[in-house]
Amino acid sequence: MTITPFKILLILITILQLPLVSSASALLSSSIVNEDDLSVLEHLKILSSNEFLGRKFASQGSIKSQTYLVSTLCALKVQAFKNKYRHTFTQPGFFQTKQGTNIIAYIPGTQHVNKYIVLSAHYDHLGTKRNTVYNGADDNASGTSALLHYAKLLAKKPLKHSVILLFTDGEEVNLLGAKAFITQQKNILSNIKLNINLDMIAGSKRIKKLHFISRGLPQILSTQSLGELIKLQAHFKTNSSAHLKAGFSNRGGAGTSLKRTNWLMASDHGVFNKAAVPFIYFGVGTHKNYHSEFDDFVNINQNFYLAAIDIIFKQLIYIDTAMNKESIVESVIPSLKKTQR
Ligand SMILES: [Zn+2]
Repeated sequence: MTITPFKILLILITILQLPLVSSASALLSSSIVNEDDLSVLEHLKILSSNEFLGRKFASQGSIKSQTYLVSTLCALKVQAFKNKYRHTFTQPGFFQTKQGTNIIAYIPGTQHVNKYIVLSAHYDHLGTKRNTVYNGADDNASGTSALLHYAKLLAKKPLKHSVILLFTDGEEVNLLGAKAFITQQKNILSNIKLNINLDMIAGSKRIKKLHFISRGLPQILSTQSLGELIKLQAHFKTNSSAHLKAGFSNRGGAGTSLKRTNWLMASDHGVFNKAAVPFIYFGVGTHKNYHSEFDDFVNINQNFYLAAIDIIFKQLIYIDTAMNKESIVESVIPSLKKTQR
């Protein structure tokens, strides 16, 4: 399905005229992260501690991270994907071939068990440089810990669609883990309806906005549902301390050496996009601690992070419910459907 000017008009009409209907407005109530549930911050603190040595691809720190992820998923009783958590892949090199390891868990859906939503976050980071550990608290212990938190919530209350929790390795080495996943899972690729990728969602102390980009959503949502999602996102712009914002600036943040960033390929969602899988990517963009030794637990914005986890999850819940729903506008006026084809 493509977005025609007519369809854009319909979306605009939907946004302007319709109030949030019950399925979306139900999501505006209390936060999904409550006081006695701060284990998500504990996961982040542990994964970004010196003990994990910066979680570099194919290193001791990586093996420790894998053990932590697998033991947490086991404790949460979240099943392994295709009977194993560790899905390895190789990276041939000039001197030696290295092995990477994606950690993958699976929560079967209650209604559409053979249709998948892939939640992804890379757990690898930069390792150590000149005896300094680059802990990567924001990049990307933040997304990794959020995924562990979602695993806990979804294990208790599964979605309609099956969820694949994909903790990728080698993102910092040219998106290796995501590429391996797409290659290894090509037999189910057409059943992967959506990828939600989290990379850097805790920022620095000064971060104020959670940004997102998406592609392909008209393939999985009706015009009305898409309009409602956009409305929900607009609500989170003003009514959440994560201040959700569509799009990224393509300039580097203050204090970074990056001049321009291609956000479409900035993280694992780029690989899903190339494989024609619709995606939404959430992140704060580059900031002063990005890829520096100061990307530590003490420097993230905790309140912002908890708000980000909350509003991303609510969008996931909305999409899971709205997917496959026939558009009311299109079913009421079948002739409109014909003219769009
Ligand atoms: Zn990252």
